[in-house]
Amino acid sequence: MKIFEEIESEVQSYARSFPRVFNKAQGEYLYDEEGNQYLDFLAGAGTLNYGHNHPVFKEKLLEYVCNDGITHGLDLHTKAKGEFLEAFNEKILKPRNLNYVMQFTGPTGTNAVEAAMKLARNITGRENIIAFTNGFHGVSLGSLAATGNSHHRGAAGVSLSGVTRMPFDGYMGEGIDTTQYLEKVLSDSSSGVDKPAAVIVETVQGEGGINAASFEWLKNLETVCKKHEVLLIVDDIQAGCGRTGTYFSFEPAGISPDIVTMSKSLSGYGLPFAVVLFRPELDQWRPGEHNGTFRGNNMAFVTAKAAIDHFWSDDTFAKQVQAKGAYITERLASIVEKYGEGNFEVRGRGMFQGINCVNGDIAGKITRAAFKQGLIIETSGADDQVVKFLCPLIINEESLKKGIDIVEQAIKEVCAKEDEIPEDQDYFDSLRINKLKAVV
Ligand SMILES: *Cc1c(COP(=O)(O)O)cnc(C)c1O
Repeated sequence: MKIFEEIESEVQSYARSFPRVFNKAQGEYLYDEEGNQYLDFLAGAGTLNYGHNHPVFKEKLLEYVCNDGITHGLDLHTKAKGEFLEAFNEKILKPRNLNYVMQFTGPTGTNAVEAAMKLARNITGRENIIAFTNGFHGVSLGSLAATGNSHHRGAAGVSLSGVTRMPFDGYMGEGIDTTQYLEKVLSDSSSGVDKPAAVIVETVQGEGGINAASFEWLKNLETVCKKHEVLLIVDDIQAGCGRTGTYFSFEPAGISPDIVTMSKSLSGYGLPFAVVLFRPELDQWRPGEHNGTFRGNNMAFVTAKAAIDHFWSDDTFAKQVQAKGAYITERLASIVEKYGEGNFEVRGRGMFQGINCVNGDIAGKITRAAFKQGLIIETSGADDQVVKFLCPLIINEESLKKGIDIVEQAIKEVCAKEDEIPEDQDYFDSLRINKLKAVV
């Protein structure tokens, strides 16, 4: 369709990797205008953990709309909001012994991160925030300061201040616990690192290349934070809502963050929705101090409550996700062993895994080859070097196998051809530009 080239801004990104016009979706499948079917291993960049148009959520949403339910997003008390809060409290927080209050922010992930960082700074009276190498927290200025990616940071146009970077788990190689470095600089009044208000961390870095922090590292991080009276913010926007095999990604690490940000799959239906959770003592906001017109999304409340009721009333779903995660681990390990020649590497945990293909050119070729076979899958990481498996958690075993088979075939093809390709930097650069220009 020409209209996209004609008047849609050049800033579009995912559309370039999958240049089709989509008009229908169900479960783990997307369909384009010509009726082609695609298996969706991107799932709205992690917003569709429960798949497209889940029939149970759809029914609730239709009922709500048909009954003239409130649709705007102003922070009025609505029945839909009350019912969502009740479901979240009863089925998510209480069974996990978590005592949090909930702040409704603007409906995107970066809004939640901005609110979390602002709250931490206001409470402590400190400006500095510790973020990690390869972290991604959004692209509005406050969040962008905590984001590592130079492509995104480069567009800021102003200095990105108030954040100090520390090495994430594994950044310095195996066997080095980078929390020891954090502990050292926080203990040394001449380290040059100002005492921070908070540390913000993803337990599994999504955009940064599917880097999973070990539970031990997360525990150590919590200990350092407690010792220095620094707030611990877990950004669970992508890793949360069951992606790693538990509702919150930090559960198996046994840590209890002071502040948690959530968005992406929270509504369960791809509807924009974001919240911040924090310990009640931290609720030092004055009324309306952090404002916004769209704080909460009533239609998202309806589908988010449906998602909690349907999938999180007991641990059946979590167990299914864990089992599928184990299958993914096993398959990816065998693929890497067969074709990776000691270079490729499996990363992540649960249904949040990826294959590090060493460089973005190889990973890009793999995802393009997969797309030709009807699989939508993207890359992540500093150089887009990681093929990122982000299929809906509800995917059936047959489709999961099929998707991984397609990637395996694509890797086989690409690796076979790789020997013929000149190791010439200009050539690789031209490929990267082609990727940006959406040549499949
Ligand atoms: C996607 C993401 C964000 C930003 O969310 P937006 O809705 O794109 O603003 C923040 N943190 C993490 C971990 C994310 O994955």
